Amino acid sequence: MKLQSIQSQFIETISAAKDLEQSLIKNPQYLLDLVGADGVALFFGEDVTLLGNTPNRDFIAELLPWLETKFDGDIIYETNSLGQVYPAAEEHRATASGLLALLISRIQKTFIIWFRPEVIQTVNWAGNPNQPVARDEDGTLLLSPRTSFAMWKETVRGKSLPWKPCEVEAALELRSSIVGIVLRKADELTQVNKELARSNTELDAFAYIASHDLKEPLRGIYNYSSFLIEDYGEVLDEEGVDKLNTLMRLTHRMEDLINSLLHYSRLGRAELQLRSVDLNDLVAGVLDVIKASARDTQVEFKIPCYLHTVKCDRTQVNELFTNLISNGIKYNQKKQKIIEIGYLDSDDPIVIQKMLEYSENTPAKTIFYVRDNGIGIREKHLESIFRIFKRLHGQKKYGGGTGAGLTIAKKIVERHGGEIWVKSVYKEGSTFYFTLH
Ligand code: ADP
Repeated sequence: MKLQSIQSQFIETISAAKDLEQSLIKNPQYLLDLVGADGVALFFGEDVTLLGNTPNRDFIAELLPWLETKFDGDIIYETNSLGQVYPAAEEHRATASGLLALLISRIQKTFIIWFRPEVIQTVNWAGNPNQPVARDEDGTLLLSPRTSFAMWKETVRGKSLPWKPCEVEAALELRSSIVGIVLRKADELTQVNKELARSNTELDAFAYIASHDLKEPLRGIYNYSSFLIEDYGEVLDEEGVDKLNTLMRLTHRMEDLINSLLHYSRLGRAELQLRSVDLNDLVAGVLDVIKASARDTQVEFKIPCYLHTVKCDRTQVNELFTNLISNGIKYNQKKQKIIEIGYLDSDDPIVIQKMLEYSENTPAKTIFYVRDNGIGIREKHLESIFRIFKRLHGQKKYGGGTGAGLTIAKKIVERHGGEIWVKSVYKEGSTFYFTLH
């Protein structure tokens, strides 16, 4: 009953917690009382936490591989004389004569190992258990009432109190509760993800319908303004004509913004057409188009390394490079503009830093970059420029875009499972980095 009451309080606390590992660690006494142990080691992958009286970390680290073999087909292992099955434990019998190990997840390497100290036990045998019967000179066995009834005291070393069946049961119940909690959390996460996916789709659909429907009245405003100028231009004074022209210019601008929004929402809805694409070809194609439209500008394009072939959606990645390269030319006041396109070497500090950020199971990703020697971006704007319609300059400056280019670039990269970020030195230039899958 005592165990059950500890158990129910404990389960209540860990079910309510956001982080299972932390909730176990924060309640060491529950964890120890649950099975009547003096020490416990918690393994959550690489994280090992020791609570109470336990042997040292090195010993436990060496013990684990041995223990894993003991779990073969089972989820619990118990002994009250560890030294007998694992001789290295002899030295640690003060803390680890008894061991109760619970396997929670082999794949995620989650284990709970409880320890019990040695109890010098005095066992009273009815006679020496190692010599239960006497023999006479010719070797015949003799039953001797004296020896068989004499008390034989034996001190047993290296043993802890045995684990009671109800304690082992409590450990197993803890495991099923943890598994239940983890499964429930995974379910909740799936549900939240579903909701998120649904609201994203709805938002895309909404952006599409809204912008699509906005275009019609906008066309009307534009057309009526031009009719007014044509039919009544002579009746109006100069100021009146000016105002109508501004009205037309603003509707034009609004149409551009709506088109960008439409384009953005389409990107989110379209299926990705993944194919192997040679980025050398793709970038060469992008540069041809850009060179044709920027004939009056002096731009030197550098591609220091042979680019990879990657699995991606050709049209979208084409747009990604187009946006980044044309920004590098647009936001650039140097006489000799330089744009460099490449990827980082595997020993580049940025690559190493990224590798540390990713979990060890994520394969290394190629980090591509587009670098310019343009006007640069102040530190405080580095994040916000990826927001839709965010522009750092007046409409007319630097060729006047809609502020959707980088938002679109980000969406393309994210749809390919990558990330995009920028580093920049104000007035000297910017480098946009991205990964694709
Ligand atoms: P736009 O379509 O107006 O070019 P973007 O989303 O592509 O919009 O860019 C947003 C803002 O980020 C721009 O207004 C500009 O201020 C800044 N920006 C983008 N690329 C660069 C760059 N290579 N160098 C300096 N500033 C840049």
